[in-house]
Amino acid sequence: MSSQTMSNRKSQKGTLQKRLALFLLILLTGIVVITLTVVWRSTFNHLTEQLNSQFKTATAVVEDRIFNLAEFLESNLEPVAKDFTTKQLISSARKDPTSLSAAMDNYQENRWGTDVYWVLDAELQPLVSSQGTAPISQEIILNLANDGAHWYQSGGVFYLMRAVPVRFVELSGQINAWIVAGIRADKLFDGKLVALTDMQVSLFHFDSKKVIASTFDDVKVDSFDVSNNIKDAKINDRVYLYVTSPLGDWIESPVMLVMAKNEAKAYLSSQMLIKELFAILILAGVLAWIAAVIVSRGITGPLIKLIDIARNISKGTYIENFPSSNAREVQTLSLAISDMQHGIVEREKAINELAFFDELTGLPNRLQFNQHIENHIDEMPDCRLIVATLDIDRFKEINDTVGHEIGDQLLQLVSRRLASFSDNRPFFARLSGDEFGIVFSQAGQEHVEPLAKSVVCLFEQPFAINDLVLDIDCSVGVAVYPDNAKTHQGLLQCADIAMYSCKEQHYRYAIYEPSLNRYSVMRLSLMSELKGALGEGQLQLHYQPKVSLATDRVETVECLIRWIHPEHGFVSPDEFIPLAEQTGAIRYVTNWALKQTCKTLCEWREKGIILGAAVNISAMDLVDMRLPTYIAQLLTEYNLSPDVLTLEVTESAVMSDPDSAFKALNILKTMGITLSIDDFGTGYSSMAQLKKMPVHELKIDKTFVLDLAKNKDDQIMVKTLVSLASNLSLKTVAEGVEDAETLSLLKQFNCTKAQGFYMSKALPAEDFEIWLETYMNQGLAS
Ligand code: C2E
Ligand code: CA
Ligand code: CA
Repeated sequence: MSSQTMSNRKSQKGTLQKRLALFLLILLTGIVVITLTVVWRSTFNHLTEQLNSQFKTATAVVEDRIFNLAEFLESNLEPVAKDFTTKQLISSARKDPTSLSAAMDNYQENRWGTDVYWVLDAELQPLVSSQGTAPISQEIILNLANDGAHWYQSGGVFYLMRAVPVRFVELSGQINAWIVAGIRADKLFDGKLVALTDMQVSLFHFDSKKVIASTFDDVKVDSFDVSNNIKDAKINDRVYLYVTSPLGDWIESPVMLVMAKNEAKAYLSSQMLIKELFAILILAGVLAWIAAVIVSRGITGPLIKLIDIARNISKGTYIENFPSSNAREVQTLSLAISDMQHGIVEREKAINELAFFDELTGLPNRLQFNQHIENHIDEMPDCRLIVATLDIDRFKEINDTVGHEIGDQLLQLVSRRLASFSDNRPFFARLSGDEFGIVFSQAGQEHVEPLAKSVVCLFEQPFAINDLVLDIDCSVGVAVYPDNAKTHQGLLQCADIAMYSCKEQHYRYAIYEPSLNRYSVMRLSLMSELKGALGEGQLQLHYQPKVSLATDRVETVECLIRWIHPEHGFVSPDEFIPLAEQTGAIRYVTNWALKQTCKTLCEWREKGIILGAAVNISAMDLVDMRLPTYIAQLLTEYNLSPDVLTLEVTESAVMSDPDSAFKALNILKTMGITLSIDDFGTGYSSMAQLKKMPVHELKIDKTFVLDLAKNKDDQIMVKTLVSLASNLSLKTVAEGVEDAETLSLLKQFNCTKAQGFYMSKALPAEDFEIWLETYMNQGLAS
């Protein structure tokens, strides 16, 4: 695993926990913020309402107080204005102002509680006053006489002022004088009012931009806005909320009352609330974080463990105890990973078995075999190692004739027999189909041959499968490390070369020696050359006579192929025919042999030699549907009758696919061609199948014939085969007749024909003609 993905995973490790915590935190914060907003808004609205009503109340209180004072002032002035003495003093004031002044001073001091007064005559000229005169117009005086609060400035000081008329004759409309008195406004707007209303109170005249009075130390008219609603203003570095309302007038325009409240005080409780809510938010946040961490740990803890486990599994370290969790999902995941691990272990085992063991026999396979050799060489490079390859002879035929199931069982029995081998603790493997490998370690040079022999000995006893008893031979090739090769490939190659050489020479075992090498190299190159060799005339047909035992006459010959290779010399058909069958080149060989045969028969006919000829065809030719057409063409071309031609097919070729073979044989039989089953007795065909076989003759395999004169078993076998064939109306040919005794025994057994070196080996056409000439003249005696 790359370091990058590791770090990615590490950074993801905290993510779930953090995300979960963050999620809870955001959720809680959201709830708190919404709550806070709602609470704050309703609190604010409530406080604003409260403030409004406070303003209203306070305004009403102040207004009441001022109006009452104004009315009280009027009610104090009126009796004095109506007082007769006062009227007298006023009427004589021009002459005696002192008396009026003294009386008025007395009133002001003792009854009115005012700060200023004027007594004016009808023309509004002052008669007496408490201080300097002030110009008062007719409109002003009439206004001051009306109900309500009226303000007036005199000498830079503002007063709450009222005026009452003096009529010398009460009921007359004539006003003779005025008494005007006022209370200093700043006296009214003092600390008491602040205490009473819990507000700062100011009075100002908007038109003239004059502050009439204020409980503020210093305030400008500009600070205030006279529109409706609550406004705010910064006064003396503090924010105040205020409302304005008209309260009385001055110079015929209204005077505004300002009720101002420190904003901090007004919304004190809301600010407190916000602070508390903030505290709650922070507390909730902390609690949410803790809760989130606890909850997420509960989930992520086992998850992190599971991640570690999965990582270990990926490294191939398996875990016994999986963490359990209260969370069902995590528990399920834990179980799933446990199952996954189990699955991986099982599959690994299976893969390992598949990779290193052979499924059928349970033996180690080629891969393990190679590894075993390599390991041995690595660990003990100085120790001798004997490597053998063992191939079951004619296994393909056995497989083809008795079926793959029995073939498989045979391989299992062979592997069991190999495993029973007790000396030198060998290592066994199945290398391929019917090829086994054996390694003997710690063996000396002197052990090589005895070990090879003892392996071969394992095959002495036949193998019993169901009711079948199979006598099996094997070929064993042996190579020695380090003498023959130093790598497993080299050793196996040497052992294989030895094994093939013993197959060719029909030995049971062979020990590798460099001179054997030429076979294997040759085998490879031969196949690429075969087709060309056919065209270049490197191949020839030789003819071996088949003698009719009843007449001693030669009526047919078997055509046997010969390859004289320009480099390798004579190459046996036993060597290249199986290879040609494997590569598919056999078709060209067969076609060539058929054509060559027909040509020779034609030539012989011209020379007066009338003979039939047998051509060998292989299993592959049999299923080639072009073959009958080709033969028919040849027969026409060389003007031959079909009965001169015999086709030899081996028993095993027929039995490998009996249905197709029977079909092909039937076609050839209808064409009038003679059919012969070659190597009969080796192919395990049953009586029932033999009955169905559309053939004319059986060629008894030479293994039963070569030793016939001496071997009683062979005699019984051949006798039985001959009578079996005659019961089925089939002719018999015995091949491999090497002596006169055999020939006479075959005559006794009523065998139809004989073929063998005793009569003649296969000869080139001219040589055969000479032999035939001699034979016809002198018989075999010569
Ligand atoms: P086969 O058809 O069984 O041919 C008989 C073999 O036995 C021949 O070997 C022959 O030379 C040999 N033989 C004959 N009489 C005696 C005897 O008295 N003693 C001994 N020891 N051997 C005897 P050859 O010619 O080497 O052929 C080997 C095999 O090659 C043949 O066996 C046949 O299966 C195959 N073969 C040969 N020519 C052809 C061919 O043209 N086409 C095909 N498909 N196969 C061929
Ligand atoms: Ca033959
Ligand atoms: Ca034969």
